[in-house]
Amino acid sequence: MKHHPENDPKYQGLNVSKGVEKPPTINPYLKEKHKRKKYSVDEYVERILAGDITVLSQAVTLVESSRADHQQLAQAIIERCLPHAGKSIRVGITGVPGAGKSTSIDSFGVHLIKQGKKLAVLAIDPSSERTKGSILGDKTRMERLAVQENAFIRPSPTAGSLGGVARKTRESIILCEAAGFDYIFVETVGVGQSETAVHSMVDFFLLIQLAGTGDELQGIKRGIMEMADGIVINKADGDNIGKANIAQNHFKNALHLFPLAESGWSPEVLTYSGYYDLRIVEIWEMIDRYVAFVKESGYFDVKRNRQSTYWMYETINEYLRNDFYRNETIKRLMPVLEREVLGNKKSSFIAAKEALDAYYKKG
Ligand code: GDP
Repeated sequence: MKHHPENDPKYQGLNVSKGVEKPPTINPYLKEKHKRKKYSVDEYVERILAGDITVLSQAVTLVESSRADHQQLAQAIIERCLPHAGKSIRVGITGVPGAGKSTSIDSFGVHLIKQGKKLAVLAIDPSSERTKGSILGDKTRMERLAVQENAFIRPSPTAGSLGGVARKTRESIILCEAAGFDYIFVETVGVGQSETAVHSMVDFFLLIQLAGTGDELQGIKRGIMEMADGIVINKADGDNIGKANIAQNHFKNALHLFPLAESGWSPEVLTYSGYYDLRIVEIWEMIDRYVAFVKESGYFDVKRNRQSTYWMYETINEYLRNDFYRNETIKRLMPVLEREVLGNKKSSFIAAKEALDAYYKKG
């Protein structure tokens, strides 16, 4: 067994890493600009359904683009792909930076591919541009998976509001499913709101935890634990096994205090090692058990239908918000109103009412 540096006795504990600075985005079209063939909607759909990853990737780029013509094309493709979507198992994966998400996804993915499955890894990381968060879903972080032809790895759409980034990821799920992927992973960093967004688009929500870092460091909020269908404690290897077992009991006890989830499923707590590929099988057995359980009870479809309605409202909210803030009158008015509110010259509510009145008068 190769020795992992974190298992060195001198190692000061399982650190939460700060993440790395995002490299500048290179326009993926730059080189291809002149040679890339423009497909019609029919051609896109046909190739996606045939499992053509290059075309799938181009369609995802359209989904992520803010250009109106790209969006129009993307929506037409999505609509045609919808009847072929929905057949995958969608798994949300979260954990603080350093918890071992990419290492684990790499070994989960290799495990699934060995079973003849196809896997897409998507990500939601709205913070990546501004706060230099970790780069989720990056191929270089999933070395074994990146070379597999049955794996499609796509980093988080960058920029924009969480709602916008999440919507794009949700639409990409549809395209990946139409392309025949059996499993879709949606990865996010466990530090904030983005878990809720991921939770609202997956069937199973997996929380990766570490032992021995202390609760405060893991920033584990009650809300996140309540969302989890499974909690898995990573790095249960070497000297860390004992601590992982203690943490397992700790989490099991904590979960007992929660009311039973609506699904009727009691979340399980397992220990494993993503780096050494230990007890990965058990994690997949748990997920299979869950899927069988909720399919049998009918909750699987109830949850998916509810998610679809949720995303309809989210999309409307996002559209309205964007339309409002992009409006020229509003752009001019907002700084004025903001100054007045800051200077106590106007109440927040009156200022908001004035802004809305100005918006609706625009005709
Ligand atoms: P992420 O930020 O959550 O994606 O975490 P990474 O997968 O990048 O892992 C962070 C660090 O933890 C790296 O140095 C990994 O090699 C290490 N690591 C990940 N999984 C394990 C494990 O199972 N055991 C040990 N000992 N270290 C691990």
